[in-house]
Amino acid sequence: MKDCIFCKIIAKEIPSKVVYEDDYIMAFHDIEPQAPTHVVIIPKEHIASLNDLSDEHNNLIGHIFLSIKNIANTLGLKEGYRVVSNCGDLGGQTVDHIHFHLLGGRQLQWPPG
Ligand code: C5P
Repeated sequence: MKDCIFCKIIAKEIPSKVVYEDDYIMAFHDIEPQAPTHVVIIPKEHIASLNDLSDEHNNLIGHIFLSIKNIANTLGLKEGYRVVSNCGDLGGQTVDHIHFHLLGGRQLQWPPG
């Protein structure tokens, strides 16, 4: 999508520190990390948010979560980590391209605020 910052990252029009990429997804270090490890995982297909998922995305979402597990393992998050997807304004979503935050490397608190 033309004005989507994450689509521009996928197209390499905006630089990012890629940690994983395949035909369907991309994972890169967040530019404003909220934990020692903070990676953003996105599908290459532009989907605005969790609210825009449908049955056709079942395989894609499964692939994303299995990849997150592998990325966490590769990054050495042996003691645990958190996966977050902010949805909509009240959910704190600022980029309208569905994404999953992988956070780790410190003790995370609950509730997140
Ligand atoms: O959940 P939310 O929509 O707020 O997350 C968007 C995330 O994308 C933020 O953590 C922000 O730092 C990150 N970002 C990035 N690189 C950009 C633009 C945003 O890592 N060029």
